[in-house]
Amino acid sequence: MSIFRMALRSCRLSSQSFCAAHMHQDFRFFRQMSMDAQSIAAQLNTSGIFRTQGLIGGKWTEAYEGNTIKVHNPATGDVIANVPCMGKRETSDAISSAYDAFSSWSKLAASQRSKFLRKWYDLLIAHKEVLGKLITLEQGKPLIEAMGEISYGASFIEFYAEEAKRVYGDIIPATLADRRLFVLKQPVGVVGAITPWNFPLAMITRKVGPALACGCTVVIKPSELTPLTALAAAELSLQAGIPPGVVNVVMGNASDIGDTLLESPQVRKITFTGSTAVGKKLMAGSAATVKKVSLELGGNAPCMVFDDADLDVAVKGSLAAKFRNSGQTCVCVNRIIVQEGIYEKFAKAFAIAVQNLKVGNGFTEGVAQGPLINEAAVQKVESFIQDAVSKGATVMLGGKRHSLGMTFYEPTVISNANSEMLISREEVFGPVAPLIRFKTEEEAIRIANDTNAGLASYIFTTNVQRSWRVSEALEYGLVGVNEGIISTEVAPFGGFKQSGLGREGSKYGIDEYLEIKYICLGNMDRA
Ligand code: NAP
Repeated sequence: MSIFRMALRSCRLSSQSFCAAHMHQDFRFFRQMSMDAQSIAAQLNTSGIFRTQGLIGGKWTEAYEGNTIKVHNPATGDVIANVPCMGKRETSDAISSAYDAFSSWSKLAASQRSKFLRKWYDLLIAHKEVLGKLITLEQGKPLIEAMGEISYGASFIEFYAEEAKRVYGDIIPATLADRRLFVLKQPVGVVGAITPWNFPLAMITRKVGPALACGCTVVIKPSELTPLTALAAAELSLQAGIPPGVVNVVMGNASDIGDTLLESPQVRKITFTGSTAVGKKLMAGSAATVKKVSLELGGNAPCMVFDDADLDVAVKGSLAAKFRNSGQTCVCVNRIIVQEGIYEKFAKAFAIAVQNLKVGNGFTEGVAQGPLINEAAVQKVESFIQDAVSKGATVMLGGKRHSLGMTFYEPTVISNANSEMLISREEVFGPVAPLIRFKTEEEAIRIANDTNAGLASYIFTTNVQRSWRVSEALEYGLVGVNEGIISTEVAPFGGFKQSGLGREGSKYGIDEYLEIKYICLGNMDRA
């Protein structure tokens, strides 16, 4: 079915006035599309992965009341699609489907689940180009970054296809001669996975990969801002032969969906990536049914540049760590803390590098900075800059909306920032780099740790003893030394303090989806 017909169909299921408004939007979108957008739409149409309904028990499903939400392209404001606005009833059905599927999925041999995951990985990679375009379309990041996300996102499915075969238990030497003691690791059950918009694929696969590998089934709730990538990935899971009900996707009313997942005794685990505020609510809400909880929350990453840093490495590394996805990642640098001896040189070289970042539609060749996700994100950036300037900071570069309009913002460098400013205390989640000056290593560590967050941190130094000493002192789950891009499926990802609980990726990530069972065989000396 074409995108156009799907859009029409989803409109028909809505109420009449709602429907009329949406049809107008969709026609407008298709009439005004550039050649580029037309070819992308054509490619999506024929790809077989452009889905605009939820997935419950293997069936593509509209919202029961017929309500829909619009998905926009943040670079143009155009409506890309209408997806169902689901709530409690659809979520309950998705949970029941996942619960029913659990009994057979969890009983498969690990090697069988591994094969399904491997097939899913192969399909994700085979559709890399079209999936990348879908991410750029609904999220706005440059196509090259979007394609990178497909490789990164798919890598979790590949990695856990392999790890599925390595969920080992233990045999414990017994304290009594007639006993044999065993430890078994078993899947926790149905998992509710709630994910954000900034990595529409990778934040899902980082959860679903290990969950499925060890025998859990999932109900995914992607952000209403970027549901299309999630739905495309779910379509590919079906094409990979993963049985109906193992992967379910609902989207719409976030608090209704969240509450239904929290209240259900059948959901044994909540895994969430998103803001600290919502994470805290989910953690509190999980208490009533004592669910396992994993949280990947906000960060406030310090990037420490010492006098002995290699200037070129420090500029390139901090640029990558700050401006990836226009500053909209949880591991993005939030504060650049620079030692006084290198401050001026670094500030100048960094500002030149930032000035060279091309801003524009993520589909345009050479663009490094797409739009921010929405108007609220721009307003947050503006208010943080205003606060910094009112407290004595200077805008070295940028500091205003981009002439392209929409939610494009000029990559910005702010000098003379300090720890009292909002921009240092909270996650800016935008293309703004504040520079803070420091004198001693102790002072730098104190500034870096002076936050409730503890996700990613970065150090630039050529002194190996310092790199180790500071790494140990940082209260952060991730430390990049002379490197700005450090995420990989083979290493554990997660935060200290209020940046979260648990780890994703690596051999540790699968533990989050397992229960440990102790079995004691007694009276083993009897004939
Ligand atoms: P968010 O507002 O917390 O939303 C995240 C998800 O939670 C979305 O699917 C959202 O749904 C849903 N949600 C909102 N309220 C809910 C509720 N009451 N019950 C259940 N679900 C609810 O965060 P965001 O703005 O999308 O993402 C940005 C944040 O994520 C940043 O703080 C960033 O640092 C963090 N993040 C952390 C990591 C990490 O690994 N630590 C990775 C990426 C992002 P709707 O969107 O449909 O409203």
